[in-house]
Amino acid sequence: MIALAMDSLTEIARQVSNCTDCPLNKTRTNTVPGDGPETASIMIIGEAPGYNEDQQGRPFVGAAGRLLDQLLRSIDMKREEVFITNTVKCRPINNRDPLLDETAACKKYLDRQINLISPQVIVTLGRYALSAFMPNAKISNVRGTAQNVNNQIVFPIYHPAAALRQNKFRQIISEDMQKLSTLLNSKGDPGPDDNDPKSQQLSMF
Ligand code: URA
Ligand code: SF4
Repeated sequence: MIALAMDSLTEIARQVSNCTDCPLNKTRTNTVPGDGPETASIMIIGEAPGYNEDQQGRPFVGAAGRLLDQLLRSIDMKREEVFITNTVKCRPINNRDPLLDETAACKKYLDRQINLISPQVIVTLGRYALSAFMPNAKISNVRGTAQNVNNQIVFPIYHPAAALRQNKFRQIISEDMQKLSTLLNSKGDPGPDDNDPKSQQLSMF
């Protein structure tokens, strides 16, 4: 009975599979709640499921996922050690960008996953995932640097799909992964909270 009051990744996935809170539910084949252990020290957050993810119900199983696996291996990490999910858990038709309303409707599941896992670092892939944490930040300004968002460390990088389209992004993502590795090993202080109105206020004096 006590278990009823406790949230779990399985319970979140079950609720996602029944969710009709935004129009994406009408066109999905499968929901893609996310994969990985509750004990993960890193959460990786992409944009939205694509064709393959919608077919299989698992995140990052296509070409971008293969590159993500390589990037993780480059810092001696395995996919099985990280929790991978997206800002929306259902595929937008024709892979269009998720709408603000859809991301907002789905945010409750992401928040619960973050609460349960309580990761050391959240790695956001691309500008959509970044904007879920820092709506006003520009990815080219903040990528590859640890950001303190409400006392949670967020580490934004470009989306691996961008690296598949343009080689220059691949180089930058590889370099940022090395910085992520350094951050994970140092457990260092990421600095002031750029999103916190209090720290912005302080900087005015
Ligand atoms: N791209 C994403 O952003 N998410 C996936 O799950 C797959 C590709
Ligand atoms: Fe529900 Fe999220 Fe799917 Fe929309 S995208 S139907 S909010 S699970």
